[in-house]
Amino acid sequence: MKQTEHRIATSVLLIGSGGSALRAAIELAERGVDVLAVSKRRKTDAHTSLAAGGINAALATMDRDDTWQQHAADTLQEGYLLGDPRIVQTVTEGAACGIADLERYGMPFAREADGRISQRFFGAHTFRRTAFAGDYTGLEIQRTLINRAGQLKVPILDTVYVTRLLVRDNVVFGAYGFDLEDGSRYIIHSDAVILAAGGHTRIWRRTSSRRDENTGDAFRLALDAGGRIRDPELVQFHPSGLLEPEDAAGTLVSEAARGEGGILRNALGERFMTRYDAERMELSTRDRVALACYTEIKEGRGTPDGGVLLDVSHLPHETILQRLPRVYQTLLEVQMLDITTTPIEVAPTAHYSMGGVWVRPEDSGTGVEGLYAIGEAASGLHGANRLGGNSLIELLVYGRIVGEAAAAYSAGLQAQQRSATALAEGAGEVDRMLAGEGRENVRPLQRALRNLMTEHAGVVRDEAGLRTGLAKLADIEATVGDVGVHPDIASFQDLAHVFDLKSSVVAARATLEAALERRETRGCHNRSDYPAMNESLQVNLIWSGPGRFLTISPS
Ligand SMILES: Cc1cc2nc3c(=O)[nH]c(=O)nc-3n(C[C@H](O)[C@H](O)[C@H](O)COP(=O)(O)OP(=O)(O)OC[C@H]3O[C@@H](n4cnc5c(N)ncnc54)[C@H](O)[C@@H]3O)c2cc1C
Repeated sequence: MKQTEHRIATSVLLIGSGGSALRAAIELAERGVDVLAVSKRRKTDAHTSLAAGGINAALATMDRDDTWQQHAADTLQEGYLLGDPRIVQTVTEGAACGIADLERYGMPFAREADGRISQRFFGAHTFRRTAFAGDYTGLEIQRTLINRAGQLKVPILDTVYVTRLLVRDNVVFGAYGFDLEDGSRYIIHSDAVILAAGGHTRIWRRTSSRRDENTGDAFRLALDAGGRIRDPELVQFHPSGLLEPEDAAGTLVSEAARGEGGILRNALGERFMTRYDAERMELSTRDRVALACYTEIKEGRGTPDGGVLLDVSHLPHETILQRLPRVYQTLLEVQMLDITTTPIEVAPTAHYSMGGVWVRPEDSGTGVEGLYAIGEAASGLHGANRLGGNSLIELLVYGRIVGEAAAAYSAGLQAQQRSATALAEGAGEVDRMLAGEGRENVRPLQRALRNLMTEHAGVVRDEAGLRTGLAKLADIEATVGDVGVHPDIASFQDLAHVFDLKSSVVAARATLEAALERRETRGCHNRSDYPAMNESLQVNLIWSGPGRFLTISPS
């Protein structure tokens, strides 16, 4: 049966409705530019709404000596010098403006009695510079941006899955996709496209992402369009993910818990961070705390279920209820556990993609004309370790910049060539999947992929394991074409899962190959066979498809 086809034209198309996409959309709409945002998840429930602890800017509301230069130095230093200094400067210098934008849109930041924005400590920051709203900062940011976008009448279609970018001769002219509810097709023509489709951390078994998001869509969409991926192996494992229940494994216990004074202990009752970073203890960088937790568990000092204990029960009751309400509520809901009296069992969880689509520092352009990438989909700010709170501010700062850049690009476009071939390829890909009678089911293949990434590309890696991972991945790659798609009357989710898998496979290959290539230990990337940092590898690995690498210097 021929599906209904929608043909839409707009000046700038945003793929995603998380914080980065919404901020860019607001910029465009405020400039009077025609804009459309599409996403595969409801806008109120985009990944950004999960963000908890806070958003960074050197506002110096609590510590007067803080400056954007110190914020930049912390970011570069703690990223093991792999961040692009121009991107780091842009974000840290522009951060106060990002916060002011949020205030202008009505963001309810926590404040001190005299009205100053409160700022808390986050791991490895020199000063208190993390602004917040309880421990549901992302939810409030998402609400605030949705409200502002609503005032500006930004259209958001949040049941549209984008399967392919439309490109002719290295110039983007739109995107192809389908509706998740009725399967109708979308051909969206646009002058420019902003890719804000998130990261790839769902390809690990224990992850702070929910199901069916962060499946690596930005990797595949950008790569197929002619873009490149920077440092895909640099994935942040957050120290504190829940162990159970199984369907909530990896759910995050926010860093705010340690920021407010939470303590980590092993099963012997030892406050083990004394062995790993005696100075900063639980407020050390995430990579160090995650490796410490991993080591305690691996060396047999973990709990019987394979975790360590995060304890906030010594904190005043009111502090927990006011500063950590979401952690408190989540633990009650999923484990019936009262954190005011009982420690939480945690273990490292795949949390954030520091690598991602390569972008220019000045405008987040990808090198494909008219195609930009922002947010967790992009790369360049965090290097080999992300400081907590730096992601949300990146969305705000680069959302504005990319909105401005895309508006200028669109205004300056003299003519745009489209390609019937590109369109036919987009349609053909979906048609073939629906027509095929594949024998494989998508969910077991997704699980197999997540298992192999967990086993062979987790917190600590080595050459033998990575090669085994690549061999297992090749088996999955060979099977992807044989997956059966079974849309039902309720939705086309099954088709979406197959595209998710296609993207995840690309993201997994990029990650495994780059992890093999980076023969050193740096930040989040621990190689047991190369335990030292190698100065000659203070470079970014740029991946442009299987076996194709380029190295560039971050500065
Ligand atoms: C539990 C948790 C807590 C966190 N806490 C903090 C914190 O305190 N501070 C901080 O700075 N950062 C935090 N982070 C990180 C931060 O929340 C994210 O990096 C950030 O929100 C990503 O925003 P984004 O706009 O790039 O993408 P997302 O919010 O992930 O949005 C991606 C969008 O792309 C859409 N999409 C994806 N693929 C497709 C496709 N094929 N077709 C159509 N649409 C598609 C999705 O539907 C979604 O709308 C946290 C993350 C987690 C998981």
